[in-house]
Amino acid sequence: MNIKEFIRQMPKVELHVHLEGSIEPQTLLKLAERHNVTLPARNLDELHDWYKFTGFDHFIEVYLAISSCICTADDLELIAAEFLKDRAEQNILYSEVIYTPYTHLPHIPLDEQLAALNRARKTAEEKWGVRINLAPDISRERRPIEASHQIAEWAIKNRNNGITSLGLGGPEIGNPPELFASTFEIARKAGFPATPHAGETEGPASIWGALKTLNAVRIGHGVRCLEDPSLVSYLKEKQIPLEVCPSSNVCLHVVPDLTSHPLPRLMDEGLFVTINSDDPPMFNTNLTEEYLRITDEFGFSVPQLKQFVFNAARASLLPIDEKNTLIQNLTVRFSELEKQLN
Ligand SMILES: [Zn+2]
Repeated sequence: MNIKEFIRQMPKVELHVHLEGSIEPQTLLKLAERHNVTLPARNLDELHDWYKFTGFDHFIEVYLAISSCICTADDLELIAAEFLKDRAEQNILYSEVIYTPYTHLPHIPLDEQLAALNRARKTAEEKWGVRINLAPDISRERRPIEASHQIAEWAIKNRNNGITSLGLGGPEIGNPPELFASTFEIARKAGFPATPHAGETEGPASIWGALKTLNAVRIGHGVRCLEDPSLVSYLKEKQIPLEVCPSSNVCLHVVPDLTSHPLPRLMDEGLFVTINSDDPPMFNTNLTEEYLRITDEFGFSVPQLKQFVFNAARASLLPIDEKNTLIQNLTVRFSELEKQLN
């Protein structure tokens, strides 16, 4: 078995992937037709062209158009079921999945959203042994800020019902973490973890805000930490996991191309790095493809690839006994696979 085949077959864990951003292109077109939503793309080729982003604002525009095609609890269950089937095909044993409940709230009450997603979760676990937990996020555009308290309270109430953290997403520029202090204070008081995006389109101040004001236990992206040596030292000392999404950074022009991606530098600095796909079909990728691309570009070895996967398992928010079971499972599967390497 060569390294490419090894990557395809290796067991994986992913911590930064969006449900709405993972809708399969065929399904998106089907949902748009079903709900009479006019998208600028009517077939797969046009969809491919539509997914060429001029920048983050453009990306958000497309993202909201996609989200508007999800109108019923059945739609949510369908996209979750397809997402989970794809997890099984990629050997992604466990994922923490970001989704934005508020977007669907006009059509689907929060508890119905969760019930639909939990039906898909249960089926996938029985069928393929693939597991996910949910990380509902607050959109940074949302006003008044107090309106997002409802999402925080609902997420905390469902901490034993499939929800493991509270996220913060959407346009980072102009919406610093500090604006959302009151929402994340609700989570902090309940001992509920925060997993915000930060340091993607904004610099170190945004990451500091996520750490100090929102009590982030992990940072979504965080690649721009390298602009501040004292932040790098802090992240290294505390071993705060970074959810690095290489192709996403290229597609949204955070970096000009994969060759200039700071991934090797983040590793040289001794930071805690995980590899993720963010919004896979929108960036013409998936988690397997991310591992293939970075290995091709940076020449990672098998021990380094394993490190990324084990990092993700360790940085997951599973209860400790379940985390230990996952790590054991990974250890067994990797040792079987390594025997077949040539
Ligand atoms: Zn993201």
